[in-house]
Amino acid sequence: MKTPLSLPDRPSAERPARGGGPPDATKLAEAAAQRAERAAALVRAGAVESLGNGRYRVRSAGGGWWAVRDGYCNCPDFAWRGYVPCKHLIAVELVRSFLPSAA
Ligand SMILES: [Zn+2]
Repeated sequence: MKTPLSLPDRPSAERPARGGGPPDATKLAEAAAQRAERAAALVRAGAVESLGNGRYRVRSAGGGWWAVRDGYCNCPDFAWRGYVPCKHLIAVELVRSFLPSAA
């Protein structure tokens, strides 16, 4: 089933069947939009730092740092769900183009 929404390509194998029924594209889009807002807040707070070589770190709410590199983040949110990139990945995408890169 095709949807008009542009969502990240995912292998259809690992699909959480929580509550039954197929994933709702509208809800996925809403989740992505909410994460984009949180990611923008991280950027505004200056929580994203470039470490060079395509690696970044993003300050977590608890005061620690999450390690982010291309398409990967070590936060539990990223490990837990597959459909939507975590806010740290989105935040890195937002700043990637204009952060000074040592790479
Ligand atoms: Zn993350």
